[in-house]
Amino acid sequence: MDNIPRSILCRVCNTKMKYVCDADYMVGDIVIKTPFFECEDCDIFFRHITESQSKAHFKTVGYVQPEHRPQYFESRKAFFEYLLVLVENNAVNKDSITLTDFGCSYGHMIELAKEKGMHVMGVEQDLSLVKASNKRGLDVYESVSDLPCNTDVFTMIDSLYYVSEPNKLISQVREKMNANGTLIIRMANRNFYSRITNFFKKEKSLTILGDCVISYSIKGIKKLLNGNGFTVVKIVPSNQSHYKKKSLILRLIYLMTFILTYLVAKQIVFSPGVIYVAKRQS
Ligand SMILES: [Zn+2]
Repeated sequence: MDNIPRSILCRVCNTKMKYVCDADYMVGDIVIKTPFFECEDCDIFFRHITESQSKAHFKTVGYVQPEHRPQYFESRKAFFEYLLVLVENNAVNKDSITLTDFGCSYGHMIELAKEKGMHVMGVEQDLSLVKASNKRGLDVYESVSDLPCNTDVFTMIDSLYYVSEPNKLISQVREKMNANGTLIIRMANRNFYSRITNFFKKEKSLTILGDCVISYSIKGIKKLLNGNGFTVVKIVPSNQSHYKKKSLILRLIYLMTFILTYLVAKQIVFSPGVIYVAKRQS
């Protein structure tokens, strides 16, 4: 707990959070312990890491390395196509859609969207990925504020939970969005499971939250978006069955959480992933 500020404020509501436990985090070739804090009011967990730790982490993960690009495309193509149907169904003007993908990684989804005739842009924090995408003819920028024009639909697919200042990001997104614009967020939904597993344990663990910086519940996302001029209009349980390489057991578990969610009429979303569709408030 050295070098950890005594007071950590919630990244959504700005009130003081409480320390929960440390959790493993890959930095280069080593695993370090990083502290997690919790805001019970927002139902979010926040991992305290420095910017250099975060940068070193992303250099080690598989999805930023150029040699992994073809296999990532293969494994996620069906999922991106499914998401693009959601984009089309929720855009106001379906005949002329400008789509921006935040955290676009290799640019696979905007590449597919471009083939469908959409106008596309991407935002990616990793400069080598930005350059590689630019070389392939894709308009990718390092930050939302660099975008040269407004967009109709923003997507954030497994990327928002890496952002340590979400209020700043969502307000920037709103500024770069046309009236009646749509924001589609795919997000892990594991807080519920971490609470259940910790309830039975003497020693708390948040390993289940993976490498996120902020782990949100549905309540936390709604609060974040409402506070920055968006309204969640649809919540879709995401069972990740579009991912090709999942084992049969994992697929069955996902299917069960999906069925369970609908059995309780979506009052509790059990699925380990959720897709939010939100509308920009005028
Ligand atoms: Zn909070």
